[in-house]
Amino acid sequence: MGDIGKEVTLAGWVQTIRKFGAITFVDLRDRYGITQLVFNEALNTQLESHPLGREFVLQAKGKVIERTNKNGAIPTGSIEIDVQQFTILNKSAVPPFTIQDDTDGGDDLRMKYRYLDLRRNAVKKNLELRYAVNRSARNYLHENNFMDIETPFLIKSTPEGARDFVVPSRMNAGQFYALPQSPQTFKQLLMVSGYDRYYQVVKCFRDEDLRADRQPEFTQIDCEMSFVEQEDILNMFEGLIKRIFKDVKGIEYNDAVERMTWEDAMWNYGNDKPDIRFGMRICTLKKPSTVFAEKQDQSILINGANFQVFDGAEAVLAIAVSGGAVYTRKQLDELTEWVKRPQIGMKGLAYIRFNEDGTCKSSIDKFYTEERLKSIVDAAGAQKGDLVLILAGAEERTRKAMSELRLELGEQMGLRKKDEYKLLWVLDFPLFEYAEEENRWVARHHPFTSPKPSQIDTMINNDPVIHDAANYLAHPYAQIKANAYDMVLNGNEIGGGSIRIYQRALQEKMFDALGMSQEEALHKFGFLLGAFEYGAPPHGGIAFGFDRLCAILGGSESIRDFIAFPKNNSGRDVMLDAPSTIDDAQLNELNILLKNS
Ligand code: ASP
Repeated sequence: MGDIGKEVTLAGWVQTIRKFGAITFVDLRDRYGITQLVFNEALNTQLESHPLGREFVLQAKGKVIERTNKNGAIPTGSIEIDVQQFTILNKSAVPPFTIQDDTDGGDDLRMKYRYLDLRRNAVKKNLELRYAVNRSARNYLHENNFMDIETPFLIKSTPEGARDFVVPSRMNAGQFYALPQSPQTFKQLLMVSGYDRYYQVVKCFRDEDLRADRQPEFTQIDCEMSFVEQEDILNMFEGLIKRIFKDVKGIEYNDAVERMTWEDAMWNYGNDKPDIRFGMRICTLKKPSTVFAEKQDQSILINGANFQVFDGAEAVLAIAVSGGAVYTRKQLDELTEWVKRPQIGMKGLAYIRFNEDGTCKSSIDKFYTEERLKSIVDAAGAQKGDLVLILAGAEERTRKAMSELRLELGEQMGLRKKDEYKLLWVLDFPLFEYAEEENRWVARHHPFTSPKPSQIDTMINNDPVIHDAANYLAHPYAQIKANAYDMVLNGNEIGGGSIRIYQRALQEKMFDALGMSQEEALHKFGFLLGAFEYGAPPHGGIAFGFDRLCAILGGSESIRDFIAFPKNNSGRDVMLDAPSTIDDAQLNELNILLKNS
């Protein structure tokens, strides 16, 4: 309103054109919003000989005047521009979809014409948020003495659990670079070089089968520090996320970030990234003896009732749904169908209604006395009026299914509130995971993660070979915990890292534990082992998934919405039509002969 009376020149794109008799109204869009232009009678003749169309690029000179019909929905809704002169800077073909918040364009079309989709306010807002997160992170890290150092993209493999993208080398016929799955080894080398606080907002490349919401190239806020212990890292980086909350969302997150061991996360939530916006913890009624060795087994509550489903199951798990006793038969049938879906893979769902009058009504009445049902209900932590849901089956699958069911119920009951943010550190991950097909250990995080100091001896003094595959959990390596941590936000892993191994001998032992021969270790990581001989400081770090963090802060399920030029679920850029074939001359230069050509 303060601009009324001013002469202005605006340039932008024509969003809409409306004619009212001799007057034409045009909504002109630029990066900052929409302004209404008014073309009076005199200019209308010019418009007739130079007609405007949607998405034409227009420059207009005129005077800011007060609008009679104000539009409260947009910031410039109380003014308009009385156009005195205009120039069509460029014409536009009719766009394939409407460039407005509610577009009529489907996903594929919008991706094909991503440069038009990016004109839409909804997409622009996401990129603005991304930039705000980027700025906030950089400011915080800069203020804390971190230095942004670029690391190369054409490198040798950095194992982060995915396949490498490779790039053929023309100058070194028959040889290939790998694109970094992360700058992991470089940031560690920078610590050896004495750059004690490093960061980078950096692209990482992982050739994985693209499950929903993954991108073959994605961005990390990648950080590393020297002379630190786990506690220093946790403090520094919860500071980073809190700062981002403040700068980007205006949220003062003053609570200490909760911490949970991996084992408790798995035990109570069936998941290593629990959504702690709501409770509904899992109760383990029965567990196999080797898993969660120290945790209490409550199978006495359910065994011996001649109920084959429970007697024969490896694990039986329950959750109490607050107020769920009122669930109708139909709702229970729907939940049963839900757990039977192939993605969840359960055979059925048992329930106990714990009625307000203290009685129990259950789908397993036939096998369990009221008294036994009461003990199960108590074990599950149910109150009167609650519903207890029970799943039985193989340990891993059942825990996963129960975790999914918990999240689904949380969703249905509105407990996963979009505007509530709950951070969590998950700590003490296992150092190794068992790879069944190869009967060997693989690094759960990556091979540079150090074991808990108190368990280094267990690692060094035991032979990694697994002699009894069926009983791999009894191997001492199964108990070794890592100095590793993940940051979880509302049930999403937003970052993860570890304290690193920095002694050559221990790093060699780690490669050995992963089944790598000495030659292989030298061939792949000779540079790192060598560097560890020249005064490597103790160090550790973390990397945040930048795209995902933006998506969560923007209240979206999809990271694609926060990437300017994303790929689709098959890893294709539909706008560029990439990947694509290359011609024979280029293949020749690269010394490559295609198998089927
Ligand atoms: N490089 C690791 C990753 O990409 C993060 C880290 O350990 O700092 O997950």
